[in-house]
Amino acid sequence: MIRGGTVVDAGGRRRADVRISPIDGTILEVGPDLDPGAGGAGVIDAGGCLVTPGLVDLHTHLREPGGEEAETIESGSRAAALGGYTAVVAMPNTNPAIDDAATVRQVLELGAKALCDVRVAGAITVGRAGKQLAPLAEMAELGVRLFTDDGCGVQDSQLMRRALEYAGPLGVTLAQHCEDQALAGGGHLHEGEWSSRLGIPGIPAEAEELMVARDIALSRLTAAPVHFLHLSTAGSVELVREAKARGLRITAEAAPHHFTLTAAAAGGYDPIFKVNPPLRTDDDVTAVKAGLADGTIDAIATDHAPHTQEAKEEPFDQAPPGMVGLETALALALTELDLPVERVLALLAWGPAAIAGLTGDHGGPVQPGRPANLTVIDPAAEWTVDPDRLASRSRNCPYAGRRLTGRVRHTILRAEVVVLDGEAQR
Ligand SMILES: [Zn+2]
Repeated sequence: MIRGGTVVDAGGRRRADVRISPIDGTILEVGPDLDPGAGGAGVIDAGGCLVTPGLVDLHTHLREPGGEEAETIESGSRAAALGGYTAVVAMPNTNPAIDDAATVRQVLELGAKALCDVRVAGAITVGRAGKQLAPLAEMAELGVRLFTDDGCGVQDSQLMRRALEYAGPLGVTLAQHCEDQALAGGGHLHEGEWSSRLGIPGIPAEAEELMVARDIALSRLTAAPVHFLHLSTAGSVELVREAKARGLRITAEAAPHHFTLTAAAAGGYDPIFKVNPPLRTDDDVTAVKAGLADGTIDAIATDHAPHTQEAKEEPFDQAPPGMVGLETALALALTELDLPVERVLALLAWGPAAIAGLTGDHGGPVQPGRPANLTVIDPAAEWTVDPDRLASRSRNCPYAGRRLTGRVRHTILRAEVVVLDGEAQR
């Protein structure tokens, strides 16, 4: 039993205990002052805490197969559970890419023993090379609901149109990393004041916005849904806002670093602040926050992108882009977004669960009969980020020393307490 907390789900908040069944992994009873039973064995304290549907990350790079020195499914899912996630969607830019049924099956099998549910996004094109459609149907048959060439966008508009026409009848969603490669021109930083000052080639905001605009047009043409990964510019947010107002089937996510950091952070040439899309301007941060507040952006997704110390010690123009994020996303959202906790949890739990097609298992509501995938959050706990204490195998976290408010206390996966008082249980 989870005792003494405040349940928060899409239906609102109420003071309630939650009794769960270790036998079938479901919620048995939700209500105030439930009987804890003889001796109170099996009672988890949630006093002063929020009891919510487990968080769902739409955008996690677990690096396995092929990048195990930076992260494994085991280490990444441990980081996810500690960050309050009960499900993550593993991105397909592994080596080899997740672009066929055999590789999907391999990742799902490795994920079956993990501390959170590991779902898979499949590649849209073979090898993510942007030339030839991947076998979406055979991957969809294994339960894959999101497809993306993340790391890059599908550059060829005709191929993207065909992919959308193929995806529509399968009931799956294509997710785009929006970047016009020709216009991005091999840049490493947002094109603007800081790229000029540092003398590093920049990536203009328009490189993202061109592909957002194109894919809105292609969604209209094909009537297929499109999900936009990690939106980072004010122009992108505005394009999505207009498309949604016209009733198009568009969803979007934003990453914590795009509402907490700007290109100025990279002023010391530290590659820890190199990410793709790049950190932008104050105006872009303001626009992303507004999009998160008004529903233009549906989800906060981590874009957790582990890299070895060695790789991140390369010079700025040679280091790979990316930051780890699973263990800081919730606290950054609670600390940095001036939003009601219900909205923050919509962005981290039930919003992404709907986009990933996971609402049967994740995202709530917290009621009898539902799978007991739950997170207990202490919204008042203050802590300081220490990259050396992260469970991720990599340390490329840009928030060292940052004071945050809000912390995961317990994470429960199908009634198993996988995190208790901030400690992983296996
Ligand atoms: Zn991406």
